[in-house]
Amino acid sequence: MSIFVNMNLHEYQGKNLLNDFNVSIQRGYVADSPKEAVECAKKLSDETGTSIFVIKAQIHAGGRGKGGGVRIAKSLDEVEKISSEIIGMKLITPQTSKEGKLVRKVLIAEDVYYNGNSDRKEFYISVLLNRSSSKNMIVYSTEGGVDIEAVAENTPDLIFNEEIDPGTGILPFQSRKIAFNLGLTGLAFKNMIIFITNLYQAYISSDASLFEINPVLKASDDKIIAVDSKVTIDENSLFRHKEYDSMRDLHEENSTEVEARENGLNYVDLDGNVGCMVNGAGLAMATMDLIKLAGAEPANFLDVGGTADKERVEKAFRLILRDSNVKAILVNIFGGIVRCDRVAEGIVSAYKNLDDINVPIIVRLQGTNADMAKEIIDNSGLNVVSAITFDEVANKVQSAIR
Ligand code: GDP
Ligand code: MN
Repeated sequence: MSIFVNMNLHEYQGKNLLNDFNVSIQRGYVADSPKEAVECAKKLSDETGTSIFVIKAQIHAGGRGKGGGVRIAKSLDEVEKISSEIIGMKLITPQTSKEGKLVRKVLIAEDVYYNGNSDRKEFYISVLLNRSSSKNMIVYSTEGGVDIEAVAENTPDLIFNEEIDPGTGILPFQSRKIAFNLGLTGLAFKNMIIFITNLYQAYISSDASLFEINPVLKASDDKIIAVDSKVTIDENSLFRHKEYDSMRDLHEENSTEVEARENGLNYVDLDGNVGCMVNGAGLAMATMDLIKLAGAEPANFLDVGGTADKERVEKAFRLILRDSNVKAILVNIFGGIVRCDRVAEGIVSAYKNLDDINVPIIVRLQGTNADMAKEIIDNSGLNVVSAITFDEVANKVQSAIR
């Protein structure tokens, strides 16, 4: 069992996925150098006839347009110049930290907002999982574009929902209703139905938890085109999508989480001050509740799995201690198959190997040989205290962070 985590995709990866499901997209190629960007632009020109290009920074954050990460180039020289400005920049958008995010790649896309295309319209369409209704949901609006957050805030009645039963999938009347509510008629109406049907299929088939397309463009020729894409895939499904492995961008992920995954540990970084080391996801969730009940906040979720041996315990301590917010560590391990005395020995020896532990450790070991384990901890002479009941644990966590 693992908890719910998502893998985010870049815009260009999301668009490739859409294209695989015959959802029409703004076409483009990705480049990681200005020279390659020019090659992409040439190829795009040959294929689409476009002479105007959009250079789009590829980072895992939206609002790039507002931060200067989406720019127009009217010649190959401009493609090269603008790409060289964007690649390597720290792009700051309303969705990044104030330090911004390093741009490593740009998408060179065809311009779909050309002059002759004045009768165009921007929509917002997303498909996501609604956990409270256990259904999928299509959220859509006539007011797409860069200010959708303001629309949601000021005129929420302009945002519509359509719930889709995962058992039946999207029904024809539902896609018609959406196209109708978006104010479309004729060919654009028909194209929107195809767009939505295929978008929903892409979402289902890729085990995504979100597909957000903003804007969806209706061009003057009534084509419906995905101009942007934000896709997140449910990590728990990745075992059946080996082909997505290469889409993971480790630069965009929390480095501690990446290292934990490489070591077979299930770690999620959180904001609190009590580090946790637990075996089993259910116990890990209960332990986080316990920390909150003690008036503290968990600094992480960490499931060390079935084999809490010395090496894994030591690795887990190292990962937890990397977080400077950590004021105490709670180890809560149930010895079912693993013997508690072995785990206790592991904790003591890991502690001795780590010279930078300057926070108290509270250990609750229950199960096989728990008594022996307690003795080992109590006699270790280290800054480690043992606790048996949940009350005791809560009290010790409280005094540790005080
Ligand atoms: P975001 O700001 O991160 O959401 O990035 P988007 O991909 O949505 O792009 C931001 C904005 O750039 C869009 O809302 C459009 O207004 C504009 N844009 C995107 N593609 C084109 C294009 O082909 N031509 C022009 N002129 N503008 C574009
Ligand atoms: Mn967008």
